[in-house]
Amino acid sequence: MSDGPTYGFDTLQIHAGARPDPATGARQTPIYQTTAYVFRDADHAAALFNLQEVGFIYSRLTNPTVAVLQERVATLEGGVGAVCCSSGHAAQIMALFPLMGPGCNVVASTRLYGGTVTQFSQTIKRFGWSAKFVDTDDLDAVKDAIDENTRAVFCESIANPGGYVTDIRALADVSDAAGIPLIVDNTSATPYLCRPIEHGATLVVHSTTKYLTGNGTVTGGCIVDSGKFDWSANDKFPSLSEPEPAYHGLKFHETFGPLAFTFHGIAIGLRDLGMTMNPQAAHYTLMGIETLSLRMERHVENAQKIAAWLEADDRVEYVTYAGLPSSPYSDRVKAHYPRGAGALFTFAVKGGYDACIKLVNALEIFSHVANLGDARSLIIHSASTTHRQLTPEQQEAAGAGPGVVRVSIGIEDADDLIADLDQALSKASA
Ligand SMILES: *Cc1c(COP(=O)(O)O)cnc(C)c1O
Repeated sequence: MSDGPTYGFDTLQIHAGARPDPATGARQTPIYQTTAYVFRDADHAAALFNLQEVGFIYSRLTNPTVAVLQERVATLEGGVGAVCCSSGHAAQIMALFPLMGPGCNVVASTRLYGGTVTQFSQTIKRFGWSAKFVDTDDLDAVKDAIDENTRAVFCESIANPGGYVTDIRALADVSDAAGIPLIVDNTSATPYLCRPIEHGATLVVHSTTKYLTGNGTVTGGCIVDSGKFDWSANDKFPSLSEPEPAYHGLKFHETFGPLAFTFHGIAIGLRDLGMTMNPQAAHYTLMGIETLSLRMERHVENAQKIAAWLEADDRVEYVTYAGLPSSPYSDRVKAHYPRGAGALFTFAVKGGYDACIKLVNALEIFSHVANLGDARSLIIHSASTTHRQLTPEQQEAAGAGPGVVRVSIGIEDADDLIADLDQALSKASA
């Protein structure tokens, strides 16, 4: 398929990046289950290793099945290129790696996936990096937090565990003024509900483990580059603007222009960090993406119905779904997320911690798992699981206090899901 800008999302989610296999005509993208690729001759090999020619060398760096997924996600997000990797968390490290150095920091939203809070507040310190957490609705606080060592601002579009949507344009303006990129984790929204690059984001990261694959089979991650950031405008990003000793002094930005970040991600990031996506995982994710828009429509429709039902129920204290008219973010959803506020939200059960535990144990269709974005409905008590490592203050800031459960609404019959919640809430409040 030629890359016509006129194709709609539903067409691109099936075709972007893929073409019939040149050797066999296979219509579906083959799983290229191979580690290495035969060079045409010694000159070809040398050109590949010098980055003078683009091609396949070794599957830690590039693989044809993974390459189709990279092009597919880049196209759906409106970016110029993408790098897939082994998990969403790997994607976050891979996104920060070219930007950061010892002593550098990232200004991050307080409303993030629990694992990201742990990665940013603890683990990245081992690299000499740090994170400053701020309420991204308070733009002055974001401006104040940015200092001369800040190399990025990081947020989620629809923030995990729920009820919050980010004004990406406002954050992009603050980041632009400071000469640093805005990185948006678009896992919960997917490019069907939100395309952060259109709102000014520089980089988009995904846990493809979730909605993009959509069936809870494989872990994966992806970083999409908008291609719009000028890495040479200041001296903050030497990995991209200065000579790279491991490639005979090649300058990524000067050589590859808008594809600098993508090439760096493959030629340095995957080569040396090795957080590679395997072709089998890429295959499952490509299968999933083919139905992304259809699933997201149903996810949103079900979430909307179930959130409204819960909000009207006496056994429930409150529901934090941004798609409800009662949400403080309701106007923002209408303006920036017209297709809906996703399918992930929290609700507080009367009876607190104990009632939440009883509810989780009593549900039959909902599975108690640490995952989201599956076709099946999932629930988790964040305070005793995913957000367990956080302080009580961090739990509250993340919207994951002890009396709250998080649901990821699947694409089953909404009536069945409501009946399941009804019987479990009765047991929880007994
Ligand atoms: C799951 C998730 C991650 C981490 O992704 P993994 O694939 O589990 O490593 C990051 N951000 C968000 C919003 C997530 O939901």
